[in-house]
Amino acid sequence: MKNINKYNHVILISLDTLRNDCITANKDNFVKKMLGKKAFKTEKLDQIIKKGVYFKNCISAAPYTSASHTAYFTGVWPNQNGVYEFFNRKIARPTVFRLAKKSGFHTIFQTDFPIILGESLGFKDGVDDYFIEDEKNAFKKLQHVSKKENTLSFFHFGGIHYPYGFHKIKFAKKDFPNKIKALEKKYGLKPNINASDMLDESFRDDKDREYLLRYKSIVDHLHFESKYQDLLELYLEGLDYFLKNRFNSFFDKLIDFVDKNNALLVVFADHGENWNKNSRGHSDSVDDEVLRVPLLFYGKNIPKNKKITELVRTIDVIPTICEYTNIKKSEFSGKSIDLQSIDFFKSNREAYSQVWRVGDKRKIYEFQQNVLKNKKMYSPLKTKLEKESVYANGYSLKRKYLEDGQVEEVLFKNTGEKLESIKTNDKIASRLRKLLSDYNSKNKYVGDKIDEIPAEIANGLKSMGYNV
Ligand SMILES: [Zn+2]
Repeated sequence: MKNINKYNHVILISLDTLRNDCITANKDNFVKKMLGKKAFKTEKLDQIIKKGVYFKNCISAAPYTSASHTAYFTGVWPNQNGVYEFFNRKIARPTVFRLAKKSGFHTIFQTDFPIILGESLGFKDGVDDYFIEDEKNAFKKLQHVSKKENTLSFFHFGGIHYPYGFHKIKFAKKDFPNKIKALEKKYGLKPNINASDMLDESFRDDKDREYLLRYKSIVDHLHFESKYQDLLELYLEGLDYFLKNRFNSFFDKLIDFVDKNNALLVVFADHGENWNKNSRGHSDSVDDEVLRVPLLFYGKNIPKNKKITELVRTIDVIPTICEYTNIKKSEFSGKSIDLQSIDFFKSNREAYSQVWRVGDKRKIYEFQQNVLKNKKMYSPLKTKLEKESVYANGYSLKRKYLEDGQVEEVLFKNTGEKLESIKTNDKIASRLRKLLSDYNSKNKYVGDKIDEIPAEIANGLKSMGYNV
């Protein structure tokens, strides 16, 4: 890559939980497929796609927020960067924020999920200004410091995640409680704050927490009743709400900044969303709808209206940014993408994604509460590999590890088409199995000394009424 424009400013936007096929510029438009005549358009994103390079086949390294963002920020596979589980270990490799700061950039980080993308796991490392649920002031800061310094800024939005569309009362006012009441009425449910999933991504006051838990218990009900269609419709309704009520106006201002400054904009998602018996939203899933995420580059000299179907990975983003700025590189597992010659781009890449879990949601909830309360990371909980997936050479293999030691396997063509029999495609399957086994042999953390749950966590569970 010769004579390329080096950008002074980099802006990363993460639209948490945005499925790639929900970007309506796609031929495979899920919004239209689901809602028909009532379908909306993701118009602002569609417009920018026409002016930039858009990757239609970018695979996330993990289906949950923490591990997915760490893979983006380090350019290193989860099993070598420390964060391959949900909330269990700190980031063990330099993030782009640290690299940028070392290279003289001012760094800004705005997140809606300060618990997950915060101090505990090491996301604040290298960050000059950290904002919580406040993109307006984060943007003001960017406008101010960009006059004198090079900048790297990150804007994370949780509004597409459930509670779909709202995130908090602050962003949705009466619409949030009204929606909850309407849903409770529709499904004949009493207000219930005992959700199966008590985990939180953000700090909430009592009212906000009550609404979140009531929403989650509605989600529990719909999931239990296998009302997957209803859940997906709620998700889409929420996406539309978030774009119209919070994102679009912000995005306009940001595009204006990019156009007036020598800035590179990268828009992406950490994971998508899907509901079926194998996918409860996203965190337990290796479905394509969860792992395939939008990825878009926009800026001066970036080729226009390029929709790329070749496979790329989320770990390729930071190596690419380093190529286009004076941010010094680190050791990456990802490979940079030559955006200038994108018409000739050949992937030559494999993508891996894994689901590692504790198994008991109460354990991880208490663990998280103790980490937050005592402001330190405990020895990690025991986790196990539940599902994994590899994409290579136009195929993907998905494996699920069952309690009894059995393994379920499904083989897909990259077009999403399921191959009927693994047996008749055994050569392809064995090649993919070999890739996964090589990938797993590089896990730096399996076999680490793991502590049992401390007594205080067990006591905490008892005090909350759980039988431990
Ligand atoms: Zn997420």
